[in-house]
Amino acid sequence: MSAPDVAEKLTSLAKRRGFVFPSSEIYGGAGATWDYGPLGVELKNNVKRSWWRAMVQLREDVVGLDAAILMHPRVWEASGHVENFIDPLVECRNCRKRFRIDELPDGARLMDAWRSGTADLTSTPCPNCGEKKLADPRRFNLMFKTFVGPVEETAAVAWLRPETAQGIFVNFENVQQSTRRRLPFGIAQIGKSFRNEITPGNFIFRSREFEQMEIEFFVNPHDRLEGRPADEAWHDRWIADCQAWFTRYGLDPANVKLHEHLGDELAHYSKRTVDLLYRFPMGWNELMGIANRTDFDLKQHAKFSGKSLTWFDEERKEHVVPFVIEPSAGVDRALLAFLLDAYREEEVRGEKRVVLRFHPELAPIKIAVLPLLKKRPEIVAAGHDLRHRLTRRWLTLYDDTAAIGRLYRRQDEVGTPYCVTVDVKTVGDPEKGEAGDGKVTIRERDTMQQIRVPIAELEHVFGRLLDAGTPWSEVAAGYPRAEG
Ligand code: ATP
Repeated sequence: MSAPDVAEKLTSLAKRRGFVFPSSEIYGGAGATWDYGPLGVELKNNVKRSWWRAMVQLREDVVGLDAAILMHPRVWEASGHVENFIDPLVECRNCRKRFRIDELPDGARLMDAWRSGTADLTSTPCPNCGEKKLADPRRFNLMFKTFVGPVEETAAVAWLRPETAQGIFVNFENVQQSTRRRLPFGIAQIGKSFRNEITPGNFIFRSREFEQMEIEFFVNPHDRLEGRPADEAWHDRWIADCQAWFTRYGLDPANVKLHEHLGDELAHYSKRTVDLLYRFPMGWNELMGIANRTDFDLKQHAKFSGKSLTWFDEERKEHVVPFVIEPSAGVDRALLAFLLDAYREEEVRGEKRVVLRFHPELAPIKIAVLPLLKKRPEIVAAGHDLRHRLTRRWLTLYDDTAAIGRLYRRQDEVGTPYCVTVDVKTVGDPEKGEAGDGKVTIRERDTMQQIRVPIAELEHVFGRLLDAGTPWSEVAAGYPRAEG
């Protein structure tokens, strides 16, 4: 299957099955914003929860924060966003299409020329119409501007945050003091960010409203770790931890690689930046970035706010401005990568099956309870009862709107790891005086193997599979196989 093919199929599956819809679709869409449907919101919450658990709750050295989106306007002056969060926007005078300068033919060279104020576009053809009528680049700030209060005047300007990081920097002292943290420690935040992207696209890869999961990890620059400056060692640790998180939750290591920022690509405040790239259908692209931002941000905020943002090093009896390691990931981009990596088309007994092989922790629905015969009220009642019981611990759905083969395919397509089927043998047949065996069939998504399990043991079995992460083969070995 070609890459664009997968992208197209996935976009259509996402809409058809209720993962992602174009925003305001009945009005023709709202321009690169997306709505997450019933399954999408579960998947997205699971991505965020898994990240929060790994990066905050299971660690002793990171705490969480949820800062406001609207911040004091001086924040964005201090951070450099008002001045520098700029894309060079080029408009074609013939077809009126707009581009970022780096999207033009020979874009990398033109971008360098623009930075040094020497970009000449007179001989560059428009990528859309081919005419050499590109206007001079304009500086375009990607931040959305709004006004706080009833008067639209300069003094009331506020910006929608283009990153969550600044909410962390301005709370450095609050968090440090309220939690009595010593360096090194980190503050993590998940939340919405907004960027007025000139050319959004590739589905949810680049949109104007998206979510980020960011950590600012504060390190004493005078400390040494593993024989080198502590910030350098921590930078490598965070790169490894982030990469491990993505592969643990399902990304094929062959589809992930590191990209080191060199030369002009490296931001002026950064000592070193490494991106984690994923092999998206349109090519290798940034999944997240991990930067060593030095003491730039805290110093800027100290300068602009007049507050000292330092940490007192008891051992050395000195105040230090911590260095910051910043792992910064996009929730939507991570979700897209997990979707792409999970997508498979397989042939089963001569029929095509589409399956999303999600890690069980990410799967929107964990268990589907399916009745084999919906004409039998006892089967239906037992099914509803099971759903009710299981969903208290794992999101469980009941579906009886099709024949069993079809119901399995539907669950495969949305990545449900386990189906539980209630059948005639489960409930028995009172008319024939036959008692039920009180057992149900569990079917596993990837192997499609089925085992017969007593209802009373379901919580125990799913506890092993879904909470303890015991492999299916190990659990299945303890039960008789059911026919597929
Ligand atoms: P790009 O070069 O792709 O625009 P960036 O380098 O500007 O990204 P950062 O500012 O480092 O991105 O933001 C950190 C992360 O936030 C990115 O790695 C990405 O996952 C996510 N992100 C940034 N911009 C967008 C966007 N417009 N839509 C979706 N996710 C985004």
